[in-house]
Amino acid sequence: MESAIGKLLEGILPAERIKTDLIDLVASASDAGFYYLRPKAVVLPKSEEEVINLLAFSVQHQIPITFRTAGTSLSGQSITDGILVDLSQHWNNITIENNGDTVRVKPGAIGANVNTYLKKYGRKIGPDPASINAAMMGGILSNNASGMCCGVSKNSYHTVKYIRFILPDGKTYTTESAIDYERFKIESEGLYEQLAVLRTQIISNPEVHDKIRRKYQTKNTVGYSVNAFIDFEEPMDILAHLLIGAEGTLGFIAEAVLNTVNDYPEKLTAMLYFTDIYSACKAITPLTISGAAAVELMDRASLQSIENIEGMPAIIKTLPESAAALLVEYLGNTQEELKVQMDSFLAIADDLSLLENAAFTAVPYEQALFWKVRKGMFPAVGAVRASGTTVILEDIAFPVDSTGDAISDLQLLFKNIIIPGPLFSAMLRMATSTL
Ligand SMILES: Cc1cc2nc3c(=O)[nH]c(=O)nc-3n(C[C@H](O)[C@H](O)[C@H](O)COP(=O)(O)OP(=O)(O)OC[C@H]3O[C@@H](n4cnc5c(N)ncnc54)[C@H](O)[C@@H]3O)c2cc1C
Repeated sequence: MESAIGKLLEGILPAERIKTDLIDLVASASDAGFYYLRPKAVVLPKSEEEVINLLAFSVQHQIPITFRTAGTSLSGQSITDGILVDLSQHWNNITIENNGDTVRVKPGAIGANVNTYLKKYGRKIGPDPASINAAMMGGILSNNASGMCCGVSKNSYHTVKYIRFILPDGKTYTTESAIDYERFKIESEGLYEQLAVLRTQIISNPEVHDKIRRKYQTKNTVGYSVNAFIDFEEPMDILAHLLIGAEGTLGFIAEAVLNTVNDYPEKLTAMLYFTDIYSACKAITPLTISGAAAVELMDRASLQSIENIEGMPAIIKTLPESAAALLVEYLGNTQEELKVQMDSFLAIADDLSLLENAAFTAVPYEQALFWKVRKGMFPAVGAVRASGTTVILEDIAFPVDSTGDAISDLQLLFKNIIIPGPLFSAMLRMATSTL
């Protein structure tokens, strides 16, 4: 069906890469969250030039544009009632560089595919969202996605090396080029000045400076990465890092080079079952100190949502109402390294309030099953929700040593005040680097 906006967009893109049929618009009206906005058109640009023209079109016609890669966002980041710019088809280049120490990606490259390319070098990207098999690099960077092992030190913000970006006025820069720093200062003078002024204000106010430093030591993926103002001096570096987590609101990420992290060949994984959630929370710090690379907390309600799925550990169904679990993983380059870590675990094991002895496994299938439990938790919780209700997922962050109290309070709050029912599922993401 031809539409007025479709006709106008044909000045930028060929008709076959512009969708305005109702069925296409409805199909694109949701991402993985529960919000719904029907776009006026869905377009599939192939080149930076087309993106620049779309940005100009947006300004000229006062119609917002929103980028989408895989559309796995949970808070409405990749939906719009303007023009939806779909990058999932034509922006999937992946180039390994420096023997796998860095990788160059376009926004439509799927995170898991990038890791498949890196596997033979023993490397992987830092961010490891549970959605990595679908999520693409544009979204991973723009949401500052993190996950189960990356903590706050190996997330998108900290592992991005260079970014090539396009501003709403079409100006294109890359942090890989010294000349572009000069160009940015001259050609985007107003922006350069404003960023510099903001930085000076922040740096000269110790209270604000320290607050930012403190806040970003804990997981913090909500809002702009304002830590860029204290981590970088050069305005273009500040802007490049503000783009990480900006959810596409500041500009278009055309390409990025990421520093990769070690993909340890040896792993030992266990699901530890605790008498209650408080004991599970208390175990996080000693486990992390013992060397665990991942410590994922799941409360009883979350476990209930997956207990009937084929292959789940039988014990889950028998757990008492108060129980909780920690998925714990140790990583090493060699078996010897793992043995040292296991000895550290055994040294603390007697002090953990476990419902049964810890059984670590090195069998890939069993490890994959444990991770399937954790990664499938959100869809599983959604699937067992009461008819007519919806599921909302937002991240909250606490210092690790307050987690037990925080979760107890939250459970009480959801039970007594917000939801007059028993189902509140808490899933927190913990990693060594959060300490
Ligand atoms: C089951 C499940 C588990 C999840 N687990 C995690 C998790 O563990 N950790 C986590 O952090 N998140 C998680 N998420 C949320 C989400 O999957 C991730 O944040 C993911 O990185 C988003 O990638 P995407 O390709 O789907 O991005 P989209 O949803 O398509 O887009 C995300 C944002 O990026 C913007 N964007 C995309 N490309 C560009 C570009 N080139 N330039 C500028 N802006 C752009 C979009 O406009 C949007 O604002 C999960 C989601 C699901 C459904």
